[in-house]
Amino acid sequence: MECPFCNPPKEALLYEDGLIKILIDSYPAGRGHLLVVPKKHAKEWNELTREEKMAIFEGMELAMENLKKAFNPDGFNIGINLGRAAGQTVEHIHLHVIPRYEGDSKFPRGGVRKAVLDIEDENLSLKERWIKNRMSEEEIKKLKEVFELE
Ligand SMILES: [Zn+2]
Repeated sequence: MECPFCNPPKEALLYEDGLIKILIDSYPAGRGHLLVVPKKHAKEWNELTREEKMAIFEGMELAMENLKKAFNPDGFNIGINLGRAAGQTVEHIHLHVIPRYEGDSKFPRGGVRKAVLDIEDENLSLKERWIKNRMSEEEIKKLKEVFELE
């Protein structure tokens, strides 16, 4: 299958420079939902150079500035789905810039945290979920050890 981000439809392309493109999302989660994609067809974050990573964040800023000018949203959700388990469907890294508007959701609290609302524990209350997902002391210790190896 042809990559939709390497070969986006012309009408979806808003911006392009040496490293990134900004595209209109074809399945928007909100009005003005944009995607910032590296020009390199990279599936994994670590395939990108530091320069490419920075360019993605600069693209995010540009997308937000221009969305503010166009629609004056009240906030944004920003996110990248990395890997199939995280919901990545197109194997070309893309950062979502989703404008948010007062009142577009009855319960906006939690924002991108809701990206994992449909995992198996969706029937648990928020508090139960926090308890279930909280790391054990053992896990925290392990994670700290990994960080210390840096
Ligand atoms: Zn691609």
